[in-house]
Amino acid sequence: MSKKVSLAKAPKTPKADKFQTPRGVHDVLPDDHAYFTVIKKIIRHRARQAGFRRISTPIFESKNLFIRSVGGQTDLIEKELYTFQTKKDGEEFALKPEGTAGIVRSFIQHGMNQLPQPVELFYIEPFFRHDRPQKGRYRQFHQFGFEVIGESDPGIDAQIIQVAHFIHQDLGIASKLKLQINTIGCSKCREKFTNQLRDYFIGKERNLCANCVRRLEENPLRILDCKGEDCQILASNAPKFENVICDECKDHHKKVLELLDSVDIEYNENPQLVRGLDYYSRTVFEFWDESEGAQNSVGGGGRYDGLVEQLGGNSTAACGYAGGMERIIAHMKDFRILAPDKDQIDVFVAQLGFEAKKVALQLLTALREEGVHALGALGKASMKDQLGKADKFNVKYALILGEVEVREGKVILRDMASGVQEVIPIGKSVEKVIKKLGKKSLDKYDPSKDLKKDRTVRPEEELLIRD
Ligand code: AMP
Repeated sequence: MSKKVSLAKAPKTPKADKFQTPRGVHDVLPDDHAYFTVIKKIIRHRARQAGFRRISTPIFESKNLFIRSVGGQTDLIEKELYTFQTKKDGEEFALKPEGTAGIVRSFIQHGMNQLPQPVELFYIEPFFRHDRPQKGRYRQFHQFGFEVIGESDPGIDAQIIQVAHFIHQDLGIASKLKLQINTIGCSKCREKFTNQLRDYFIGKERNLCANCVRRLEENPLRILDCKGEDCQILASNAPKFENVICDECKDHHKKVLELLDSVDIEYNENPQLVRGLDYYSRTVFEFWDESEGAQNSVGGGGRYDGLVEQLGGNSTAACGYAGGMERIIAHMKDFRILAPDKDQIDVFVAQLGFEAKKVALQLLTALREEGVHALGALGKASMKDQLGKADKFNVKYALILGEVEVREGKVILRDMASGVQEVIPIGKSVEKVIKKLGKKSLDKYDPSKDLKKDRTVRPEEELLIRD
């Protein structure tokens, strides 16, 4: 006899998990994609104008690449790097927290020093940092950036800043941003300065925050951009970099500023600005929201003349910039700047009965081929429900087909705003709708204009031709 199991004691079936995005990461929903799309379009346009070509590096790379470039004792590596190991051989990888390291690795790996110099690259990519999530600070976010590798001239620094400035102008947020600029010198003058700072702060640890006490050991330069009030007071009396900077670095900085003046880009010389990553040298800069200070920098960059060599390449000067797309979108929304909505549906094709469904499908195809954004309920909904749907999608016109209309070769054209309807021949309906919508609302694209066949003869084909 089988035992009776008391239902009360039966193990509960676990409830299906209600999955949510992990903390600090977000879906990019269609409304926000409209912003991403227009920002990317502007970036691509400005980048191409200035000779940059697009590059993408992998989402994850060797953990050591980031440690070697960004610096093992920076917040980015110590606290924010997402790392994982392969199960089989324990190889250590990290999700990329920034773009420059991967691009420099790629420059070396692909022998880009053989290309005409400087090599100008740009990217638009997601990045990952395990930071405390808050407004404008996420664990997955998107940056666009520019890198110019192979030229030490101050004109490069000014041009990168100018491209970023143009992008802010195009997006309508430039007036809200102020360029902060500084020089942190080359490795030689920086070493001198670091020693002076260490001497100055030693003995004052009681007035420093816990982070800065640690920074005093590892990188006293970073104390200068601590946001803590006491640290800032101490920092304001610290030795000044201008007293140790070498002549070459001083001249470089002076020229960058003069070049910015010559193209009317305003800046604030900010001796406190050091940026958090170890690879920077000479010029460092950030674009700050005037009202909110450094916490709300929309982007930053600078020179990294030592990085290519540090990662195993030849000594090669370089300079770059990275801007945060989510913060830019937030500024655009604050400024009430709307991204163009290109997803508007203009026509809805409603139908009843299978024969009408066939014609509806043909009409939808013809409308779409002509560049009309068209939607059709091809399910079994009633006419009332279909027109209700057309209303919800805010379409301008509906084409309505029943069995009778199909038999007579007619279709009802309904103006959704006024409710006025007319019966027209099916064969004339696409033309009529386009006339009513106006040619401007058509979304036409001919891929064959972009894609051409490569007609150059390859060596192996040449042999065949000769044979
Ligand atoms: P950084 O090189 O760290 O200064 O980053 C450049 C820009 O990327 C910043 O100015 C921000 O606009 C953006 N950014 C950096 N970290 C985050 C993050 N955790 N969440 C969102 N945006 C970020």
